[in-house]
Amino acid sequence: MKTKIAIMLQMAFVFSLASMVAINFAQERPALTPEQLDRLTIRPVSGKEGLYLLPGFDGALSGGNVAVLVTGDGVIIVDNKFSYSYGDITRQIGTVTTEPIRYVLNTHHHFDHAGSNADFMPVAQVIGHENARINIVRNGQTGAQNVTFASRTSVFLNGVEVQAHHFGRGHTNGDSVMYFPELQTVHTGDLFIWGNRLDGTTLAPFIDYANGGSAAEWTATLDGLLSLDFDTVIPGHGPILSKADIRIFRDKFDHLVSRINMLIEAGVDRDDVVTELDIGDLNWPLAPDRIQAIYDELSG
Ligand SMILES: [Zn+2]
Repeated sequence: MKTKIAIMLQMAFVFSLASMVAINFAQERPALTPEQLDRLTIRPVSGKEGLYLLPGFDGALSGGNVAVLVTGDGVIIVDNKFSYSYGDITRQIGTVTTEPIRYVLNTHHHFDHAGSNADFMPVAQVIGHENARINIVRNGQTGAQNVTFASRTSVFLNGVEVQAHHFGRGHTNGDSVMYFPELQTVHTGDLFIWGNRLDGTTLAPFIDYANGGSAAEWTATLDGLLSLDFDTVIPGHGPILSKADIRIFRDKFDHLVSRINMLIEAGVDRDDVVTELDIGDLNWPLAPDRIQAIYDELSG
């Protein structure tokens, strides 16, 4: 037990360090190696005509994944990384098309996904869930969306449709899934993240309680997402994946919540939940304060 606590404390330190780094990198561009820059270069999404990915693996060095759809009459993008990312995004899109960016969709308000909204506003409509806009305004971020929606909306360009769906709370209270029906592809935002950050550490789901996130509702929100018809997935961070991978993530999340619920039902108190909870099989490094925050939500 002592070793487990020591590991947890060590992870908590790494996490607080990581979030400090994330906040710093939100202000200025980090220096990246040629190998890292290569991993962050725009590429076509295999078998999906007109769809490209500007990869993102974390909230610190590389930001979220940006989906780029070239329609023949303009470009629709999903998410836009950090406050300093406008120049890099437009330069990279310029290597695959001369069409202008007409619409920017936000999966949620976080600075590594919607950070350069304000730069896109003179040239494009910026669209997000109504709660994502409320979060941007409340947090004093720039780039509050021009257009909002409650449960779903669509953008049409040159006959191509992109749908935005809000299936409920999870990572925040303003999460949207962006759906490309003709291409059978979704961009999930941070409702679904997978794999390792650019620095090699493992990603784990984050419930942003300060912005309306919910562990209790996250699984049902993923079930809404899984009701769409698609085969290809662009996660909030991580590699291109399949619908089956979202089911794996959904079941892991369900295990996490039900195990904490079982401990609550067994009378385990807040101070002991971290040592009593066994989630080694999930391979999600969750800091003690994050586990306790879930405990607070589920027991509240
Ligand atoms: Zn996020």
